[in-house]
Amino acid sequence: MQNPMPERLLYELSAPGRRGVRLPESDVPEADPLPKKLRRDEPAPLPEVSENEVIRHFVRLSTMNHHVDRDYYPLGSCTMKYNPKLNEVVANHPWFADLHPFSSTRYSQGALQVLYELGEMLKTITGFPAVTLQPPAGASGELTGLMLMKKYHQERGQGERNRVIIPDSAHGTNPATINFAGCEVVEIPSGADGTLDPDALRREADDRLVGMMVTNPNTLGIFESRITEISQIVHDAGGLMYLDGANLNALLGFASPEKMGFDIMHINVHKTFSTPHGGGGPGAGPLCSVDKLDPYLPTPVIREEDGTYYHDWVRPKSVGKMHGFYGNFLVLLRAYAYILATGKDGLEAVARAAILNANYLRVLLQSDYELPYPDRCLHEVVFSADRQAKHGVKALDIAKRLLDFGVHAPTVYFPLIVHEAMMIEPTETETKETLDRFIEIMRRIAKEAEENPELLHDAPATTPVRRLDEATASRKPNVRYEN
Ligand SMILES: *Cc1c(COP(=O)(O)O)cnc(C)c1O
Repeated sequence: MQNPMPERLLYELSAPGRRGVRLPESDVPEADPLPKKLRRDEPAPLPEVSENEVIRHFVRLSTMNHHVDRDYYPLGSCTMKYNPKLNEVVANHPWFADLHPFSSTRYSQGALQVLYELGEMLKTITGFPAVTLQPPAGASGELTGLMLMKKYHQERGQGERNRVIIPDSAHGTNPATINFAGCEVVEIPSGADGTLDPDALRREADDRLVGMMVTNPNTLGIFESRITEISQIVHDAGGLMYLDGANLNALLGFASPEKMGFDIMHINVHKTFSTPHGGGGPGAGPLCSVDKLDPYLPTPVIREEDGTYYHDWVRPKSVGKMHGFYGNFLVLLRAYAYILATGKDGLEAVARAAILNANYLRVLLQSDYELPYPDRCLHEVVFSADRQAKHGVKALDIAKRLLDFGVHAPTVYFPLIVHEAMMIEPTETETKETLDRFIEIMRRIAKEAEENPELLHDAPATTPVRRLDEATASRKPNVRYEN
């Protein structure tokens, strides 16, 4: 076979007669052959390859993209922590993996118990008395939450309330969700220290308010220290407080969203409770809330009575169903395994180490990169590439150059309020040596920006593909290895 291109050489590995496995001689009588019309005229064109080549092929493919099992992955806001392999063993166990979603309650008591107990754990962690596990992602949790908030106002005869306030540092899903829920986005500016400004909020808080969506710690990684005052202003206007709980990793064991004055929040369990999520799914976005929103939670809700678990479908005020079946069960199961294995003290240790690691980077990278909000941070820190911009180097160039060192880039150009933003979330599962290596690489790149900016404009030079047109790559992906 001709292999005109090197890429082809890497994929066209088949050679006639080569084998991966040899099947034993059949020890049962041969069955009648299929009727002729159901049979192929020619054998299927399957590759003929040895086991060795198959293994090498897939191992090679698995290292062409960056992933958290390959090297460091400080992608801000995404919490790319290590995902214990034990959770995969649990989620792949046939007792769970083979359970049909339509199995009767009687034959799925174990699975229902897992879901029920996970719900109880999430209530304890957040301080809220009500929970649903149904939304399949953070953004879906946001939508469900807003639907609940709207329904709450409707039930009280205030269905005309239509505005939702967000700060200018909000994650992109927040305004998108608000639009999707048919509400109006009202954006307020953050204060000079990067936190919520009560005066800016007061100007917008009135009887048109459905509520406010807040991330705490915010997307700068800074704790909203005036959050109880903020909650009070929203509540005084008759609105509800929604917490985008994507940054729960920083609060575990320390802080109760309920005590901060929030009424409802989602949890990105794939982030905080360690489901592999680099490829975009599946995830889960359970919602926890105060009692007054409980009647509107999606159906069904799991209940327990005398040691028996069941689905409660009789919820006349519910917003209905938000996802097929009962949510992404195997993601929720991983979260359950993670929380059980980590324990209460372990969860607190997770938050401590995540915060310590981010502050370590904050202090040691300040000499080389602009730090627009220099206060102590929680689990992530946002730098700016403004100093490098003087040499014509942008945050995107730095992000691409990092790939040459085998490290994933931070989140760049978010939050929007930081010019040339680089948002770094080290997570708790990295060693000091890994953080030191990252610091060394970042310092070297800062030096390269001064001395040889062209090098950064051309990066990455060592990856399987060079700089892509990212919009086209995601809208019209070309996944063929030949043109
Ligand atoms: C990840 C994230 C979301 C969205 O969560 P998904 O599970 O990806 O839908 C929302 N807000 C913040 C701050 C996030 O980091």
